Amino acid sequence: MSTFKFELGELPPEAEALREEVRAFLREHLGEPTPARRARSWGGFDREFSKKVGERGWIGMMWPKKYGGHERTALERYVVLEEMLAAGAPVSAHWVADRQSAPLLLRFGTEEQRQKFLPRIARGELAFAIGMSEPDSGSDLASLRTRADKVAGGYHFNGTKVWTSNAHKSDYMIATVRTSWNPEKKHEGLTQFLVDCKTPGITMSPIIDLAGSHHFNMVVFEDAFVPEDMRVGAEGDGWKQVTTELAFERSGPERYLSSFALITALIDELGKEPDERAAVVVGRLVAHLVTLRQMSLSIAVMLQKGENPNLEAAVSKDLGTTFEQEIPEIVHALLGLEPTINTGSALQQALGYLMQKAPSFSLRGGTREVLRGIIARGLGLR
Ligand SMILES: Cc1cc2nc3c(=O)[nH]c(=O)nc-3n(C[C@H](O)[C@H](O)[C@H](O)COP(=O)(O)OP(=O)(O)OC[C@H]3O[C@@H](n4cnc5c(N)ncnc54)[C@H](O)[C@@H]3O)c2cc1C
Repeated sequence: MSTFKFELGELPPEAEALREEVRAFLREHLGEPTPARRARSWGGFDREFSKKVGERGWIGMMWPKKYGGHERTALERYVVLEEMLAAGAPVSAHWVADRQSAPLLLRFGTEEQRQKFLPRIARGELAFAIGMSEPDSGSDLASLRTRADKVAGGYHFNGTKVWTSNAHKSDYMIATVRTSWNPEKKHEGLTQFLVDCKTPGITMSPIIDLAGSHHFNMVVFEDAFVPEDMRVGAEGDGWKQVTTELAFERSGPERYLSSFALITALIDELGKEPDERAAVVVGRLVAHLVTLRQMSLSIAVMLQKGENPNLEAAVSKDLGTTFEQEIPEIVHALLGLEPTINTGSALQQALGYLMQKAPSFSLRGGTREVLRGIIARGLGLR
């Protein structure tokens, strides 16, 4: 039977030194956020904040300097990410581009695309969206139907993408679409493109989420023209590329830290002398947290080595999202606290927010069932 590997390691001293710098930066720009604010985790979108992060050299940390990167290590990058998440910093305006769109361009883009986009992403100037899911294609991504038909100088796009996070605020989208169709081999014929979100022929409409906010969109393409030089990789290479992109998407600390604010708020609430039941609960939560962090760090190192840790990323995301989904229920059961939205204590509001958001944790970036299918296949069990 195949297996997966997580190599455990320690953070080097330079990564720990960086942690202090990031904390000072966050204190300066965010002050002391309440638990309710920190519970927003990576949800906040603030271009000015992203530019400041870019100025500090904390976007594109591992990319080559010639593309505006900083040639630092995966572990240094990891420290920046976890500090940003723990503080609930509004990172969404650069998060997707830093995590997956730019690494995709580094691996599969043309030299011209890299030079045009990567330095601006590293400066925090460009926001990217992910154009994968469609009304009838989510888990079964290979069944997607948005078409890119060849025309002079480029392609005409027709079709619909859904659940496209922050597309209405983004500059570009990496869209995975169909350039040919063979019902017997639907994984073939997929191709990825850089799409300017302002392209004529693209209409976006909001989809309101469970918590009543607008971050999702439906994106309709009607003969939207996308130039040939915006194609990422060769026609038909989309499946291989999109699975690489999903490994970038699934591996980070955002896949277990979404409810972290509640753990720290719980510890503060319990004080230094928790009763035995509370101490057991906190002990278990912290033990799980530390284990998940080691797994996630290990994936960061594999990505740095150019490996493709699809299986490990799926395991880590499945366990991580299960953990972050359980936390609001555990805190609710332990404290008997009523979750609230705009009233009540900061802890109640953090609980209220996370209870509404938690169902989505095991959907975004691939559902639990699908991840378990990937894990089973990776282990040779199916
Ligand atoms: C917060 C959030 C943000 C998102 N942002 C984006 C984004 O920016 N861009 C984007 O493209 N998409 C985005 N998505 C969409 C997300 O990727 C899809 O919702 C997800 O892949 C599931 O697809 P679906 O909704 O079509 O559900 P379906 O695929 O229809 O699944 C429905 C149910 O059936 C189960 N199921 C499906 N297939 C199988 C199978 N083979 N075996 C067992 N069970 C199965 C699923 O696990 C699920 O429980 C986002 C989703 C969320 C919740």
